[in-house]
Amino acid sequence: MEISLQPVAPEQRKTPPPDDQLVFGKIFSDHMFRMDYGEGRWHNPRVVPYGTLEMDPAAMVLHYGQGIFEGLKAYRCADGRIHLFRPLKNMERFNRSARRMCMPEVDVQFHLEAIETLIRLDAAWIPHSVGASLYIRPTMIASEPHLGVRPALEYIHYVITGPVGAYYPEGFNPIKIYVSDQYVRAVRGGVGEAKTMANYAASLYAAEQAKKKGYTQVLWLDAVERRYVEEVGTMNIFFRIDDELVTPPLSGSILPGVTRESVIDLARHWGITVKERPITIDEVIDRIASGDLKEIFGSGTAAVISPVGEVFYKERSYVVQDGKVGEWSRRFHDEIVGIQYGERDDPFGWVH
Ligand code: PMP
Repeated sequence: MEISLQPVAPEQRKTPPPDDQLVFGKIFSDHMFRMDYGEGRWHNPRVVPYGTLEMDPAAMVLHYGQGIFEGLKAYRCADGRIHLFRPLKNMERFNRSARRMCMPEVDVQFHLEAIETLIRLDAAWIPHSVGASLYIRPTMIASEPHLGVRPALEYIHYVITGPVGAYYPEGFNPIKIYVSDQYVRAVRGGVGEAKTMANYAASLYAAEQAKKKGYTQVLWLDAVERRYVEEVGTMNIFFRIDDELVTPPLSGSILPGVTRESVIDLARHWGITVKERPITIDEVIDRIASGDLKEIFGSGTAAVISPVGEVFYKERSYVVQDGKVGEWSRRFHDEIVGIQYGERDDPFGWVH
């Protein structure tokens, strides 16, 4: 399919804010990609000025939540090249989410080409400083006007982008996390492993409660026994125990993170033993007490690595790694960021 271009006139383009004034998710670039699905096929792919979508109030996504999305970034290197980090992983995950939600897939190469076309046109929106980047949000929604629960027959696929600042403007800081044993994010057999809107709606209440108590993120436990650790906020979770790296296995209720996979690959490349195994919150607490558990960190596109300094569980607070950034957290962070910005070798061919 040919992508048609309807660019904003040069004199009408907006000026991106300076890198140090960027906030996440508030500012969007001049253009967006869009294509439509109906009668069993995708059609009319186009890059158009960023703007509102007109939709029927009976559009099925607005009632039954049939919608998926992705999140990845474009990085500007010192030599001017623009990098994407393992973008096909996101395009493939988008299709897995689509299948789970009974939505049509998008050809992965075409999806990547659409993103490339969009960010070439909006290249001026990619920040210049290390840490800042252009956030890319591919989305698909059920647009068919119809009340009644079944998969829709019409969809809109669109991609918007916006510049985002460094995740750690004041330095790489550990977060405090709250273990939710009352509310759960996702159940096995449910939609937790799909990047679908419902999972984020389901997380809001517990996250608000954690915030009121002074905690930045929720540590999610499994829905059945409320014992097994699953994720932290919108990140996957890692534990350094006795110089091994432990992370919960992809059980169906966990989102398979691109950063998670990258941390595992890097660890193995460095000769670190990685165990994808179930880990209970009791084991975590016991090992913090005994000193075997040296570090906890989250992994995700937004922060890359987010070290955890404190865990709150059943009315008690436990400090990890003296509340400081651990050696491995920093090592994984610096290596992945270095690869993303073209400052370090890329032995895995991750950058595009
Ligand atoms: N878990 C959840 C629930 C998420 O929303 C994200 C962010 N996409 C992640 C984990 C981390 O995934 P990734 O490393 O691909 O950003």
